[in-house]
Amino acid sequence: MQAASTSPPAFRWDDWYQSVGGRTIKIAEVDEILNQIKTFQYPNFHGETNPQQTVFESIAEASADIKQKAFALGADEVGIAEIEPGDIYQGREVNEKFAIVVGQKMLWRSFQEVPSHESAIECLRIYFSLGEVVINLASYIRSLGYDCTVEHPIGDSDVLHVPLALKAGFGELGRHGSIIHPKMGPLFRLGSVITSMPLQIDHPIDAGIAAFCDNCKACRIYCPAKAIPDERSVEAGKDHLGNYRYKVDTGKCFPYFAKHNYCSACLPVCVYNHKEWAKDFEGHQTKLFPAVALKEPPPTTDPDIPKHWYPKFKR
Ligand code: SF4
Ligand code: SF4
Repeated sequence: MQAASTSPPAFRWDDWYQSVGGRTIKIAEVDEILNQIKTFQYPNFHGETNPQQTVFESIAEASADIKQKAFALGADEVGIAEIEPGDIYQGREVNEKFAIVVGQKMLWRSFQEVPSHESAIECLRIYFSLGEVVINLASYIRSLGYDCTVEHPIGDSDVLHVPLALKAGFGELGRHGSIIHPKMGPLFRLGSVITSMPLQIDHPIDAGIAAFCDNCKACRIYCPAKAIPDERSVEAGKDHLGNYRYKVDTGKCFPYFAKHNYCSACLPVCVYNHKEWAKDFEGHQTKLFPAVALKEPPPTTDPDIPKHWYPKFKR
């Protein structure tokens, strides 16, 4: 399947970094995790498919089996969506029919101060950890006799994880542009395994989150770069529930993100973080609200390159 003519190009990280004077964030632990992903995970994206195919009684049974396995491997949420041309990045081709979208939550205690080295390291830790989940899930699917492809959370994937996760019932888009899950909140990351194994799809949910966002502006107030909008944008198109999307200004966000430990301040300040996380379930006493370093934002940068953009839903 080809990407739709309206599909976005993949985010051009190098061009954006060049526009702000290069990569200046230096955190040894982040570099080490990146190195581990390249060294130990990239070579495991592919594997042999068992010629003896397991036949399930129904697509419901097959889906339940896959989800159970994903949870056993460490996923905090799993959903299944059918891939449409608009879910594929420009210039990429996908032969698989379904995406098994997997989410893993980040630790609240690592976001006590944002932006910080600790929050940056936690983002990378989850990329590695979630990478293990999708690689092992792909391996399991191949052992059942079905081909599949790993779409790693760290990037350079063929498909857009966010719209697929919305279709798979993960939650709703928040004002800050990230998905808010009714139980996990917004502090989580996504990866996918794509396959043509016959599966039962999930559906988008309406948990009242978008309506809540229209009255809450916490992320907008605490965004150090003032990149989060006041109003929904007609130009940005509609989300899966038919609401016009909030359009985060990447030209303001990215320079701050690139110079201040990958920022992420909009996620822990979001009121949809469930405060029972304040213990992180491991006896760690943590704060109920992070300290946000509101340093002066760098100048806006908006390089003249094709923009990463989520597909607009024609509803
Ligand atoms: S990552 Fe930081 S700069 Fe970007 S939108 Fe969120 S709070 Fe604002
Ligand atoms: S902080 Fe408030 S407005 Fe922003 S995404 Fe969360 S709920 Fe929505």
